[in-house]
Amino acid sequence: MNLIPFNKPFLVGSELENIRQAHANWHLSGDGPFTQKCHQWLEKSIGSRKALLTHSCTAALEMSALLLDLKPGDEVIMPSYTFVSTANAFALRGAVPVFVDVRPDTLNLDENKVEAAITPKTKAIAVVHYAGVSCEMDRFLEIARRHRLWLVEDAAQGIGSSYKGKALGNLGSLGALSFHETKNIISGEGGVLLVNDEAFEERAEIIREKGTNRIKFRKGMVDKYTWVDLGSSYLPSELIAAFLWAQLENFDAIMKKRMDLWLAYHQAFEDAERKGFLRRPIIPRDCRHNAHMYYLLLPQAERRAAFLAALNEGGVNAVFHYVPLHSSPAGQKYGKAQGSLEVTTEMSARIVRLPLWIGLEGQQATVIEKVLSELKRG
Ligand SMILES: *Cc1c(COP(=O)(O)O)cnc(C)c1O
Repeated sequence: MNLIPFNKPFLVGSELENIRQAHANWHLSGDGPFTQKCHQWLEKSIGSRKALLTHSCTAALEMSALLLDLKPGDEVIMPSYTFVSTANAFALRGAVPVFVDVRPDTLNLDENKVEAAITPKTKAIAVVHYAGVSCEMDRFLEIARRHRLWLVEDAAQGIGSSYKGKALGNLGSLGALSFHETKNIISGEGGVLLVNDEAFEERAEIIREKGTNRIKFRKGMVDKYTWVDLGSSYLPSELIAAFLWAQLENFDAIMKKRMDLWLAYHQAFEDAERKGFLRRPIIPRDCRHNAHMYYLLLPQAERRAAFLAALNEGGVNAVFHYVPLHSSPAGQKYGKAQGSLEVTTEMSARIVRLPLWIGLEGQQATVIEKVLSELKRG
């Protein structure tokens, strides 16, 4: 039987032609014309002072940790319900991830539980906009201001989403997006660091260019090119930027197709939710999301393994994710948990993610039918 895959990368069609052009331009390393186009597009659409392409969202988060000058023992508050990179990027600097519980509605970091985790060592809060649905940012901005903490957005899943009309990635001092092939806009691997605070602008360019002042040198602002700070090679090649540019040029069409799929799921499961068979995603009024993900919450965690097995046997590759970081081996070694994290533990055990990719249209009805029949059987 043909399995309906969980994800399938969408190609707009002009990626290879762009790569051919980059090749013809004789500019293959980073920061060529395609990178410039991507930077301008992202700065304009998101509103950041500076967008800097990176080879992944993970890299952009690592750059954030360097920019914040985190030292061993500094603490960074974040959800436990997230991808490993949120924590790893800070742990690499010797900082301690402090895991706080999430809200049951959005599965985002709970703004009401964060302050209890703040200590004199706390330097930053790293929020994650799960499924491209914004955290309660006004509260986080207020808490960060009052306690003099940096606010970093892991907006890996959030391109095109907004909170009170403001693009995700532009709300904290620093934001990070991902262009991994599982996200909405892709370049295979890829990401961008969004710099929203003037204080970080110059150093971000240096850190990304191996800790050198190469960018100033190229602009004729200094007469020698040398090592001036810590850094690494965080910029992607032009071949990647060329690919990404093709996707950005088709941004609206991609978003529309994903939203149609998301809405079809949402409508199809409305009745089952009313009958108590599942819970659908909840989108707060202040949030506009980007149809990054469709998930369901089963009424009982105990049923999930059998439910997923039945779907997969029925030809639908549904999955779950996020072993809560506070319960992972590295999370226990490098991080610490604040409180019982009961919502995190419960939701991560109840969640089921459904296929959502452009091209699924013809098979989406099959996915819906299998889900509903399996729920009713249980
Ligand atoms: C995908 C993802 C990342 C990592 O992105 P990469 O580009 O693969 O490094 C980080 N955080 C979250 C929440 C993600 O979903």
